[in-house]
Amino acid sequence: MKAKFQTRREFLKTTAIAAASVPLIGAFSSCAQTAGPDRKIGFALAGLGNLSTHQIAPALQKTKFCRLTGIITGTPEKAEQWKAQYDIPDRNIYNYDTMEKMADNPDIDVVYVVTPNALHAGHTIKAAKAGKHVLCEKPMEASVEKCEQMIDECKKAGRQLAIGYRLHFEPNNLECVRLVREKVFGDLKIIDAEFGFKIGDPTQWRLKKDLAGGGCLMDVGIYALQATRYLSGEEPLEISAITTVTDPVKFSEVEESILWQMKFPSGTVANCSSTYRVGGIDRFNVYAENGWFGLDPAYNYNGIHGRRSDGEQIHFTSIDQFAAEMDDFAQCILNNQPTKVPGEEGLRDVKIMMAIYEAAKTGKTVSLS
Ligand code: NAD
Repeated sequence: MKAKFQTRREFLKTTAIAAASVPLIGAFSSCAQTAGPDRKIGFALAGLGNLSTHQIAPALQKTKFCRLTGIITGTPEKAEQWKAQYDIPDRNIYNYDTMEKMADNPDIDVVYVVTPNALHAGHTIKAAKAGKHVLCEKPMEASVEKCEQMIDECKKAGRQLAIGYRLHFEPNNLECVRLVREKVFGDLKIIDAEFGFKIGDPTQWRLKKDLAGGGCLMDVGIYALQATRYLSGEEPLEISAITTVTDPVKFSEVEESILWQMKFPSGTVANCSSTYRVGGIDRFNVYAENGWFGLDPAYNYNGIHGRRSDGEQIHFTSIDQFAAEMDDFAQCILNNQPTKVPGEEGLRDVKIMMAIYEAAKTGKTVSLS
C-alpha cells in the first residue's frame, strides 16, 4: 500500500526539487507559492516550557509570514515575563480556562499547542472552538481516539490542523527522500532508524504515562518512525517489537528502551530503536540495491549531515526548522491550501505506535491494513 495522504505525495513531489537548489528551501513548502507578507498570521503559544521558550518564540522572530501575538499559560509569572520580552498586550494573554474568549480576538489566527502530549486534544479542541487554526506539537496525542476527536473538531470549526513535523522542511532529510524517489542507489531495501537520549529529572511529565502517553517511542522514537515512512513513501504492514527496562524505579510507568521492526508492502524492511537510557543515538541509514546513504545526526535542530556510499557528503546548510514549519502553515492559511503535515499524518503515527506497543506487549507480530 502506498502512502495515502495527498499531503504526503506533495511532500515527496516537493522533495524531488529540493536537491536542485537547496538555498531556496523555503520555496519547497507545499503552501509557499503566492502569498506576500502583506498580512502576517498571528500565533499564540499554548504552554511556555522549554520548546516554546528556546525554539519556537525565537523562531517566530525569524519568520516572514508570522508574528507572536498571544500566549496561553497557567503561570502568571511567565505571562509577565513574556509580556515584557515580546511586547504582548494584556488582551492577548490567556490561561487554559479562558481560551474560549479568544473567539473575539482577531490578533490570534493560530494556536500552537506546546503542552505535554496527553493535553494536546483538550487544548486543540478549545482553540478550534474559539475559531483558531491549530499547529500541534508531536506526538499528536496519547490515543487514536483523541487524535480523531482533534481532527473532527477542527473540521467542524472549518479550521486547519497541522502537526509539528519540522523535518518535513529540513533540507538534508528532503535530500535523502529524493535519493530514494529517484532511485539514485537503486531500489530501497532496508532502513535502520534510531533516536534516543539519556533522560534526566525523574519527576518530569515525560516519565508519567497519563501525561506522556508512553515513553521514548512517543517522544523521540516517533522521529525514527517518521523517517521510515517519508523515506519509503509507504505505510508499514507488519510490526514486531520488544521493550526493556533496566531502571524499574525511574521507568515504572513508561518504556525505557524499545526496538521494533516493520515490513512495508514493497518488501522493504525497517529496523528501529529508541531509548531514554543512553545518549548519542540520532541517525538513519538507508540501504538500496547499489549503495547506501544516511544521516548522523538526522533529527537535530542543527548540524544534520550524512554520507553516501559513493563518497559524497550530504551536508546542506541548516535552516530554522520551526520558522520554516510556521511560515509554511501561515502560507497555507493565507492561500487557503491544505498543510502537508495535517492531523491525519499525526493520527497515522499514533496508530502505528499503538501497534508497536501491542506487538511488544503480546510478543506477536501485529498486522496493519
Ligand atoms: P516542557 O515541560 O518544557 O513544557 C511544557 C509546558 O506545558 C510547560 O510550560 C508547562 O507549564 C505546561 N503545562 C500545562 N499544563 C501542564 C500540566 N498539567 N503538566 C505539566 N505541564 C503543563 O515540555 P516541552 O519540552 O516544551 O514539550 C512540550 C511539547 O512539545 C511536547 O508535546 C513535546 O513532545 C513537544 N516537543 C517537540 C519538539 C520538537 O522538536 N518538535 C521538541 C521538544 C518537545
